[in-house]
Amino acid sequence: MVTSAVNASAPALDKPEAVVYTDVAIVGGGPGGLAAAAALSRVLDPSVRIQVFEAARAYSEAGAGVGMHINGLMACEAIHPSIAHTLYDKACYSLCSYQYNDVTGQRNAGGTLAVDRLGQMDATGHCQALMYWNDVREALYEHLPDPGMVQFGWRAAACQALDAAEQELLSGGTGAAAGADGAAPAAAALPWAQQPHRYELRMTRQRAGGSLGGGGAALAAADDGKEAVAMAAAASGEELVVRAKVVIGADGYFSRIRRELLGGSPPVFSGVVMWRGSFTAEELRTGAVPLPAAAFGAGASDRAASHRWTPAGSGAFPGPGGRVLLLFLAQSGDGVGAWYLQNSAKAVQEAGVEFPPAGAGGGVGGLAGPVALARGLAANSHLPPDVQALLAATAPERVTEHGLYVQPLDSVKQGSWTRGHVVLIGDAAHAAPPDGQGANLAIEDAVVLADVARRHGGMLGPQVFAEWEALRQPRVKDILGDTKYPFPNRNKCIQASYFAPLWVPGDAGLPTSLPADASSSSSSSSSSSSSSGGQLPSMAALLEWSRRTSRSIVERRLAEVAARGAAPEQPPGQAQAAAPAVVAAAAAAAPGARDVAGGGR
Ligand SMILES: Cc1cc2nc3c(=O)[nH]c(=O)nc-3n(C[C@H](O)[C@H](O)[C@H](O)COP(=O)(O)OP(=O)(O)OC[C@H]3O[C@@H](n4cnc5c(N)ncnc54)[C@H](O)[C@@H]3O)c2cc1C
Repeated sequence: MVTSAVNASAPALDKPEAVVYTDVAIVGGGPGGLAAAAALSRVLDPSVRIQVFEAARAYSEAGAGVGMHINGLMACEAIHPSIAHTLYDKACYSLCSYQYNDVTGQRNAGGTLAVDRLGQMDATGHCQALMYWNDVREALYEHLPDPGMVQFGWRAAACQALDAAEQELLSGGTGAAAGADGAAPAAAALPWAQQPHRYELRMTRQRAGGSLGGGGAALAAADDGKEAVAMAAAASGEELVVRAKVVIGADGYFSRIRRELLGGSPPVFSGVVMWRGSFTAEELRTGAVPLPAAAFGAGASDRAASHRWTPAGSGAFPGPGGRVLLLFLAQSGDGVGAWYLQNSAKAVQEAGVEFPPAGAGGGVGGLAGPVALARGLAANSHLPPDVQALLAATAPERVTEHGLYVQPLDSVKQGSWTRGHVVLIGDAAHAAPPDGQGANLAIEDAVVLADVARRHGGMLGPQVFAEWEALRQPRVKDILGDTKYPFPNRNKCIQASYFAPLWVPGDAGLPTSLPADASSSSSSSSSSSSSSGGQLPSMAALLEWSRRTSRSIVERRLAEVAARGAAPEQPPGQAQAAAPAVVAAAAAAAPGARDVAGGGR
């Protein structure tokens, strides 16, 4: 499902040169920005205006899957249990993971991994699962108190801290102005209504084509800070000025907020190029997308597995820079499947594929559509023919390509994520390699920020941000610093996660009473029990209910997947070897077909 770009309840933002005043401006509507909006709206006074400005005109289906772990799902639960329940219901539960040699296609003996999800749930209340990328954003978006909080299609093109005189002018001479970086403690302690607007953001309207794929923020950005070639297509005709008291930069890898309001070191190119794509249940059913023989040939139960192609001898996790193709089938909802494929920039260049692509500003390839698909095929011709056939059959509009960037952890210091009334969260603060923690940490950031704000009486400002940063930096370093499979330190941190719930008994969507023996409940959704008119359940009882509900959803989904695996299923379009001509034709796609993936800066 594509989330509508038009918010019925949105203020009139379409007028050229409109000025919008907001208390909190969140720049970026990815997992971090959406989680921040949802979490903060639980702890700030309802009169505090929170607006999210998202560059993409809509959330698109492009992109692939994202690994949600115990910590990310626990953080979602802390915002509202039904977010976690929704995600558990939509997740892909591969019962095991097979590995193959990515040249011969042969399955590696002993290369089968299995995850004991129910065991994880018993130990921690949560488990890991692969999600379809858009489901994560959608679940967070749908749990916002008002969808009009997100303004789609507006890109922050310039940001500045207003000086004291400007703040004074804007606040009507109330004397509320703070210093130029908004750091004056007296102003920070003022009630929200009396605080000055400290920052001005200039937004440009994104034109059609600016839709966002998964991890889209990495797309189309240049490391010299200039907008890349894809942006040129997104001609802007209208401008919007936003004046805000507090700015949260949730604008991903190439955060403009970081660049313009904080400075500091940008993320560095990791030397890896990534392609991602997805397909629908219908395409699988009709054979329009032929699954490789590996996914069917050796037994129907393979339908319930995920599949990983790596070079001989490199093991299941060749590391962030290694060559890998992962294919998984999401088995619920719309029934999409997804793949991601990564290779080193060096190998890509050796295969004769220009990287970075011409015009991408010398930093990173950010492409989508037929060109991205053609380049991915041309750069990965080592893959077995039936695997190439799957890639070649993926609808080009669902394919993205980009370089991967990471934030060196030794550049992370107290003060590097916040200045005055500005704070960075998610990839904008700590761009992570694609090894399964980026989205989780972005959601954690948001939940912990809201918790600290709550402890400060629903305020945001230098003190809150400094306290939050002191909590987050050691945790982020512990998790991202452990890069070697099987990630012992990372797993220890994840398993020890705890996030104080931001909800309270009686909140909408929570049960107002619980059966005495709730463990016998067959609930598989977040639906409320009817009110008994008595006392509300305690926090502890609600948390237990939430976890029981999650567990029953996972049990049901695992049973469904196992049943599917047991039922022989033969796709109508049996895997075919990709004729070299197919690959060549895709590779020859006209440069004019280059698409705008839109999430970049
Ligand atoms: C290939 C790949 C695979 C990954 N796999 C995983 C995984 O398995 N598990 C995991 O946890 N993480 C994974 N990640 C990491 C994950 O994508 C990010 O870490 C996560 O999305 C961070 O969320 P975020 O909200 O901070 O940033 P983003 O998701 O990047 O969102 C930033 C948002 O800001 C918007 N934006 C950017 N600039 C502006 C602007 N100037 N004005 C307005 N809006 C703007 C963008 O359009 C975007 O919507 C992966 C990343 C990549 C690249």
